[in-house]
Amino acid sequence: MDFYIHVDSRTRHSISLKIEGIDCPSALFPNNPTFLKTDYSDDISSVPNSICVIPALGLLLPIAFVLDACIHVDELDKTYLERVEAIRKAYEKDPGLKPLGGSVIAKQIVDNNKSLSGGGLLFSNGIDATYSLIKERKSISDLFIVHGSDIPVEDETGWERVYDGARETARAFKKKLHSITSNFRKVINEGYLTGIVGKHGFEWWHDFEHGQALLSLAACPAYALGLKYLFIAASFTAESRFPCSSNPDADEAFALGGLEVIHSGFEAARCEKVKTISDFCSENAIRLNLHVCWEDKSGENCGHCEKCCRSFLAGKANGCDTSLIGLPDIDFNTLKKSIRHALLAPDKVSIFADIKNTALRHYGTENLPKELKWFVSQNFERRAGKTLSLPYYSYTLIKQFLKRCFRKCKKMLVNALSIFAQND
Ligand SMILES: [Zn+2]
Repeated sequence: MDFYIHVDSRTRHSISLKIEGIDCPSALFPNNPTFLKTDYSDDISSVPNSICVIPALGLLLPIAFVLDACIHVDELDKTYLERVEAIRKAYEKDPGLKPLGGSVIAKQIVDNNKSLSGGGLLFSNGIDATYSLIKERKSISDLFIVHGSDIPVEDETGWERVYDGARETARAFKKKLHSITSNFRKVINEGYLTGIVGKHGFEWWHDFEHGQALLSLAACPAYALGLKYLFIAASFTAESRFPCSSNPDADEAFALGGLEVIHSGFEAARCEKVKTISDFCSENAIRLNLHVCWEDKSGENCGHCEKCCRSFLAGKANGCDTSLIGLPDIDFNTLKKSIRHALLAPDKVSIFADIKNTALRHYGTENLPKELKWFVSQNFERRAGKTLSLPYYSYTLIKQFLKRCFRKCKKMLVNALSIFAQND
């Protein structure tokens, strides 16, 4: 199986890359050949083609690893090519599929090493990215926000809301915000790939793709700006680590020219991040409009989903004023309903334990507010553990089956009785 990447066309602010798959499953690409189109707010005309092809490599490399495919390019940056093996090793470690195949062949290898300085941060205006911005604010001069990742590329209204929030944050920190708009999530069939890795319990975008895909999109403007470091915010800590394509090993294996990546904030759990941001806002008398929601595609924080509720609880556990960071006030019933479902997810156990421990440290057992009192009383370690055990899974299925039978019988009985009543 082979993938060919060619530079299709370039303007001062955009690049179109042609991707063609040979002897590959027809379901892999919605179109074959397909075009990866990216628009940059920056002038990227000085960026050589050997770096411009990297956004397509960021998409295809994880696929090549899993399907043992060979990627062909006309020219490629020397540093990036040298790091392919390190990226593969990181993928073999986390998420943990072994052995992985794949290779990259470049007709021409180009050394783009040049004198660089300063740092840029991939910025979503979420909690992880804002925490990294505060922590690394002396090293970071530029923020890169990607349209086409969480907010679909055709959703202009949602994007404007997210962009406006990010622009407010950038202004508060006196950083320059750069936008990247790409159809990168439309180029490959993520559902098909999840079908392949799903049998091992993985989800393609989260577990295999997004780290490399996002870093590679920021490669061109970061190089054009002459940045030495590209920061990407950690979503997990060492304690709460679950398979995730954005992790210290895979992210920091990525490099090009003289640019290195720093996976930032791996040491801090969510409660600490929320507290750091909230404290920073109080101390500097600023309000931020962070975007934490993954349910509402319109760019708002819905105030209903698990991520909104979890972020709200993380703030409350520290006694923070969550309105300072743009979180809506969430009532107790909504919170209970949303979190109750999430309590069964094994990957949330350490995150919830962090909220629970933070709340107990902050308030003690006697003075907990109503929502935290309920939350702390939940034995989520046991509940999530149950979902993993076969006896519990079987018990749940049997219970659901019996419930359905009971409902059907009840309905038949009611119908029969009404027919009887009519005949009388
Ligand atoms: Zn939400």
